[in-house]
Amino acid sequence: MRLPTVLQFAHSLLEQTVQTGDDAIDATVGNGHDTVFLASLVGKSGRVFGFDIQKTAIENTKKRLHAHGLIDRVTLFQTSHECVKKFVSPYTKKIKAAIFNLGYLPGGDKSIVTKPSSTLKAVKAIYAMLEEGGRIVLVVYPGHEGGREEKDELLAYARTIDQREAHVLKYEYINQVNDPPFVICIEKRMGEHR
Ligand code: SAM
Repeated sequence: MRLPTVLQFAHSLLEQTVQTGDDAIDATVGNGHDTVFLASLVGKSGRVFGFDIQKTAIENTKKRLHAHGLIDRVTLFQTSHECVKKFVSPYTKKIKAAIFNLGYLPGGDKSIVTKPSSTLKAVKAIYAMLEEGGRIVLVVYPGHEGGREEKDELLAYARTIDQREAHVLKYEYINQVNDPPFVICIEKRMGEHR
């Protein structure tokens, strides 16, 4: 068996955290693979809130959720994830986990990509809503245009989070060519350790 790919590792981080009845966020729904994964983890009594700025992404995600019989536990918003607090707070104040799969929509318009400033705003807003022990998982793709800046800004932010507040990790293949993707995970620490 080989080492987990970045996507497998990202999913395992979510799987270890999210339980039936939890609320979770897919900050970049794209073609809906991560939304389906989160929706299966939260169960019938949980809720997933999904964001994407592209109509195609929202439609593709809806179709995938219908095909898996999971649409009833997901609320989708066609808007930027930087507005996450405004859209999610009427439903819940506590989020157990969130995933950001950054970059462009696979099979879609490659010029529409996530941007450092809105990504960071969204990460900070979700961190404020995160339950103790909750995780934000980011899959970062530095290879596309603007990807390097997004990577640098995210790492600069993640490295400065006080270690008494959160555990922060980077999972990366260090011998791959062409700016391989990597994972950042921010886990809010439990109260007694802070
Ligand atoms: N998680 C997806 C999946 O499982 O198929 C893949 C996501 S794809 C790599 C990145 C997505 O981020 C694109 O669909 C793009 O439209 C979306 N995106 C770009 N900027 C955004 C923003 N500010 N807010 C929310 N989504 C955004």
